[in-house]
Amino acid sequence: MSTLIGITTTVPSEVIYAAGLTPVDLNNRFITSDRPEHYLETAERAGFPRNICGWIKGIYAVALESADIKSVIAVTQGDCSNTHALMEVLQYHGIDIIPFAFPYDRDYDLLRMQIEKLMERLGADWEGTLKAHQAMRRPRALLAELDEMTWRSGRVSGLDNHRWLVESSDFGGDIGGYTERLEKFLDEKRRAPERRPRVRLGFIGIPPIFTDFYEYLESLGAGVVFNEIQRQFSMPCSTGSSGPSTEAEMVEQYRRYTYPYDIFLRLEDIMREIAGRGVHGVIHYTQSFCFRQIQDLLIRRKVEAPLLTLEGDRPGPLDARTKIRLETFVEMLRR
Ligand code: SF4
Repeated sequence: MSTLIGITTTVPSEVIYAAGLTPVDLNNRFITSDRPEHYLETAERAGFPRNICGWIKGIYAVALESADIKSVIAVTQGDCSNTHALMEVLQYHGIDIIPFAFPYDRDYDLLRMQIEKLMERLGADWEGTLKAHQAMRRPRALLAELDEMTWRSGRVSGLDNHRWLVESSDFGGDIGGYTERLEKFLDEKRRAPERRPRVRLGFIGIPPIFTDFYEYLESLGAGVVFNEIQRQFSMPCSTGSSGPSTEAEMVEQYRRYTYPYDIFLRLEDIMREIAGRGVHGVIHYTQSFCFRQIQDLLIRRKVEAPLLTLEGDRPGPLDARTKIRLETFVEMLRR
């Protein structure tokens, strides 16, 4: 297996594959492990304050305890305000830190320069990068189909939609293997009966830290038909062109990817999708101690559908209070 490189959010992973390396999304490794709480405790024992977001603590401990991770790409602009300090701590522990920045104003030239700097640092070139970009076209097209099967026919559940889209941040470290698994999954789902949840929900914000969120909503007769950020990881804005990939196409794709830029670009996407998918109500998930909680102010003003803001802190099942809030919201929408 090629050398692994940790990522803390979606970055142009085409460059990583082109350099002959394998990306590992540390968020996924943390939350899908069988002991996420252990990672939080490790970080807290090391001195991370209680009032620091659970994802940051999880990434820290996973990076340190994964003997196969020696380098991490740090998104210094466009992701998380805690990244700088996190990377300093990881660097102190001997992990090689490679910076990457999404320009705040989505400037084309600056973004292209960042991609090229990453290529230089990892030892990749445009030829290999575009080859990887081309190889990702198939899984990205399949993910667009999967997403449509969630909101149009209900053949793919909100949970499966979430799982597949989240994994597309690194394609599980193996583009071909991921594509094969996804093909098989969709083959089965294309023959499955249609399902129509009585209450159609949109989920916006970062992926939830709860472990039974989607299952609980299903038990209430509600289905998530839109996973905002997870869908962005799959690059729904890629052109789907059948010709050879081009440099301009790839840069443009990462300009149109909404997550690292301002909230207004995200809001355009959110509003278009909740209208197109017939969403009855929206759940805005926020993480305790995350600066993105401030954006709830703007989301509440702009999103016209009924909206419930939920907060999660540590990995694990939903607590009783959150369950009651979800139940009341779904009941209100059902009426
Ligand atoms: S939830 Fe917020 S604070 Fe936590 S890692 Fe993500 S952006 Fe950073």
